[in-house]
Order: sequence, then C-alpha cells, then structure tokens
Amino acid sequence: MNPVTNFDTKKYGYVFNIQHYSVHDGPGIRTIVFLKGCPLRCQWCSNPESHQLTPTLAYNNNKCIGIDECGYCLKVCPVSAIERNEEDNKIKISWQVCDNCLKCSEVCPSNALTPYGKLMSVKEVIDAVEADSVFYSRSEGGITLSGGEPFFQMNFALELLKEAKKRRINTAIETTGYTNWTNLETLCQYLDTILYDIKCIDSGKHKKFTGVSNEKVLDNFKKMCEAFPNIVKIVRTAIVPGFNDTNEDIIEIINFIDGLANVQYELLPYHRLGQPKYEYMGRKYVMGNVKLDDNKMQTLITLVKNQFFFTDKLS
Ligand code: SF4
Ligand code: SF4
Repeated sequence: MNPVTNFDTKKYGYVFNIQHYSVHDGPGIRTIVFLKGCPLRCQWCSNPESHQLTPTLAYNNNKCIGIDECGYCLKVCPVSAIERNEEDNKIKISWQVCDNCLKCSEVCPSNALTPYGKLMSVKEVIDAVEADSVFYSRSEGGITLSGGEPFFQMNFALELLKEAKKRRINTAIETTGYTNWTNLETLCQYLDTILYDIKCIDSGKHKKFTGVSNEKVLDNFKKMCEAFPNIVKIVRTAIVPGFNDTNEDIIEIINFIDGLANVQYELLPYHRLGQPKYEYMGRKYVMGNVKLDDNKMQTLITLVKNQFFFTDKLS
C-alpha cells in the first residue's frame, strides 16, 4: 500500500497518535492530536516519526519472531530491502533501498513492522476527541493539535479546529510558529490557547540545531500578540544541553516576550524518550548520551521565576 496522497486535505489528514488524558499541553485535561509533517529537524526531537508527512515504516527487532518461523516480509518486499540478519536470524532492513511502500507491515503477524501514522477524516478525529468530553467540562480541557508541526497540514488543522468549535470543545495548538502569517492569523480565530515554541533568539544557532532560521517564528509571535491580545499564549522552551541551557539564552527570550499581551512562559527539560524511535526507523540519534544537568535546569527555572510570570509545572 503506497501512502495515499491524492485526497481532499480539508476532509482527511495524516495522524500518528491521539493521546488521551494529557495534563501537560494546555489547560485542564486534554486530548492531544499529533499530526504528521514538520519543516524543522530539531536535533533533540522526541517525535521523529512526525517528520515525514506520509506514514513511515518502523521496525522493532524485539517483536520479530524470526525468519525461519515467518519470513513473510521478505517475500513481499518489491525492492529487496529486507534480508536475513545472520546474528539473530531475524531481519535487517536496507533503509537506503526501502521506498516506504509499507507492504511488509501489512503481512507482519507480530507488528514488528508497523507504519507510524495513518490517514484519518476530520470526523473520525473529532469523534475520538469528543469521547473524552466529560473530562473537559470538569477541568476546562479540550483538544490540542500537536505534531510534527500542525501548520504543515494547514487545511486539515483548520477543519479540525472548526469542527471542534462547532461541538463547543476548547481548542489549543502546540506550534513551532514556523509558518506564514496568513496561516497563523487564520487558525488563531479558532483557538483559545497557543503553546508556542521559542527555542532561542540567535538565528544562526537556531538554524544550526533545527535546520531553519527563526525570523519568521519571532515575527509571527509579535504580530500574533498584537492582533490577538485575548488568546492565552504559553511560550515554551525545551532546555537542551549545549544549545540553549545558559542564563544568557533564557534572558534573551524573556526580553523578547516581556511586555507582550497575555503571555506566560514555561521551561521544559530535555529528555531522550524518543531515542528508540530513531532506531526503529533506521535513523541516527545525533544527541547521543547527552544529559541535562538538574542543577542547571533548576537555576534556569529560578531565573525565570524571578524575572517573569512563570507557569511552573516542574516543581
Ligand atoms: S516498506 Fe520498505 S522494507 Fe517494507 S516492503 Fe516496502 S520497500 Fe520493502
Ligand atoms: S513479517 Fe514480521 S515477524 Fe515475520 S520475519 Fe518479517 S519482521 Fe519478523
């Protein structure tokens, strides 16, 4: 099955996860809809399965029951990207050869081969979200669009938010802000809360670690604060060792957002929970074994508490 690409993007989109009962991504208890596709390549990304728009093959060696016992995937691969791994008699994939047709995942009996992501309709997604509505009314929660970068599927994201609003569901988005102003302005009309990543102020460093410069991100944020003063904006910075973990990095961000309308600020600690997914997709995790120093994180939290209104979810 080659990924479907000729569909109505106002009715369907690629989703790689719907996470229920989240308390970290917006007010109250929320349902997080993770959309595929992202224009950034942050070195520390914990959702690498989101990068590509269409479903992506993943192979978990621990789940393979062995070539002699099974071997179905070898027989269906049209480009001979799968071969025997002589070390454990399971399979190994030549990722350079694989064209991501996903045929192997359809015959794998143990889900060792699976696609990250699937095509869903607006109705399917919002029905799944609305099933949690009893939690929203008690906690002022709702839906949060995340990713990837939700703006990468602009039409789909817009229709999801419209449908959520039609059903009186509180709405939020988690975004890198890396989109054009017209897109952001359009979605803001259907949003109650925006969780907005500001990773660092230095554009050269931003480009080196994420693949894109940040002028658009910062310009969009300022415009949004002026045009939509009533929307709650929660700026978030993931603290990444060797990238933005100095006092100077955070003070620059505080100076940028200080005085803008309806803005809160959160720091998030770097973690490596996404590392196995790189391996499943045959990709290298470039951060290696880097760890965030707890004391440094605490110092930055104190710095923000002293200099800015801080929504503290860490202590
Ligand atoms: S997804 Fe890749 S490994 Fe699997 S059948 Fe298609 S080409 Fe072969
Ligand atoms: S189809 Fe799945 S279980 Fe069977 S050999 Fe291939 S990866 Fe292993």
